[in-house]
Amino acid sequence: MTTPAAQLRERVVAAVNARRDEIANTLSQAIQIESVNPKYPGQEYETVVGREGDVSKFMADKYRAAGAEVDLFAVEPGRENAVGVIRGKGDGRSLIYNGHVDVVPPGDPTIWTDGNPFSGRNDGERIWGRGASDMKSGVVAQAFAALALADAKVVLQGDLILEAVVGEEVMDHECGVTATIKRGYTADAAVVSEPSAPPAPLAVIPVSPGLWWFSVTVPGKPTHASMRGNLIRAGGLGDEVGVNAIDKGVDIFLAMRRLEDEWGQSKRHVLFPAGHFTIHPGVVTGGPKGVLVPFIVSEFMTIEYCCWYHPDERPDQVRQEIEEHIHRAAQLDPWLRAHPPVIEWKLNWPSFSVDPKHPICLAIGNAHEEANAGTRFAGRPAVNGFAAVEDCSFLNLGGIPTVSYGPGDLRVAHAYDEHVAIDEVVAATRTFALLAIDWCGV
Ligand SMILES: [Zn+2]
Repeated sequence: MTTPAAQLRERVVAAVNARRDEIANTLSQAIQIESVNPKYPGQEYETVVGREGDVSKFMADKYRAAGAEVDLFAVEPGRENAVGVIRGKGDGRSLIYNGHVDVVPPGDPTIWTDGNPFSGRNDGERIWGRGASDMKSGVVAQAFAALALADAKVVLQGDLILEAVVGEEVMDHECGVTATIKRGYTADAAVVSEPSAPPAPLAVIPVSPGLWWFSVTVPGKPTHASMRGNLIRAGGLGDEVGVNAIDKGVDIFLAMRRLEDEWGQSKRHVLFPAGHFTIHPGVVTGGPKGVLVPFIVSEFMTIEYCCWYHPDERPDQVRQEIEEHIHRAAQLDPWLRAHPPVIEWKLNWPSFSVDPKHPICLAIGNAHEEANAGTRFAGRPAVNGFAAVEDCSFLNLGGIPTVSYGPGDLRVAHAYDEHVAIDEVVAATRTFALLAIDWCGV
């Protein structure tokens, strides 16, 4: 005999499944709104701004349909965040469902199979387009969880707060997620629906690394390139005549590779694959200043690094370790001793870390297991670290215990032919629906 409580849960799951096609269509429509982050490098702010707000307004309509009071507000014009509050009828725990509406630029459209990065094409199994994985599918799943609760006439005891925010892709959290916190939206827990994979789809994500973006610039001393023999051969005049910054920069490059290898061995975390914490040299520039020809001994070399550091380390500790390492490497060379590399610290995105045994993690696990029995997502979800960084950090800094769980895969995020599996979006929707019942109470 099934209890009324079990019948209610079955009705909610059935309500999600009944909306499968609508979930897919809504995701296609959301992708078709080209909400590239206007502050992403290479974008012209004035021509791009506004589409993020269009997605938020589109989601706000869904929130209203689910019975939420909607608050649309922007720190910068055209960049509205949408917050929908479904008021609890009792004193249950409150819950925030959060996701970002901005996407990264699509790159060369002709490389996309569809020829249109914003097609939102539905092939019956997958939805294609920029933002499919990262992360309009998650935003749509959270909204449809609330719609399914309304379909099944569920009345929650605690508040359920739905958030679609801007600015995530460039850590513009003051315009996005942090603006919602400052406006007073808080809860007993939050779930950000960033893509859980890899390695496992729909995993519970209680931790992310921190991110430092920094550059190292090594100076040289330009002279005619024909002087090279004098600069590098025994008996030559060396730095009296000139110094090739690229040769010195490669020394620093290799020293940093050694530090990265050391991190691969020494910095371990049980929720991350071995060697995850890295110091990625993503951009190298160098040569004579002003004209890029090899006939002049190079005047500078700059390496731009994206460093993914261990979640338990403070950003200033990491910074100090890297600065000391570069300093020691520079001591091995007389030119670099006298002309130390210049390090510029450009951006820090803090890590976050929630106990995997925190009630919100356990509640997601329970909801997922129940909601997805008999599907390819059956069983207890994996618990993994997030490969990259995301808005969970700022919700946690705002005092709200926050973890991630969502459809999609980082391997196709920010890539050509981004896509997401429809059954995965629906599975996440079922989990979000049951989780709200479990967390907020009925
Ligand atoms: Zn994202």
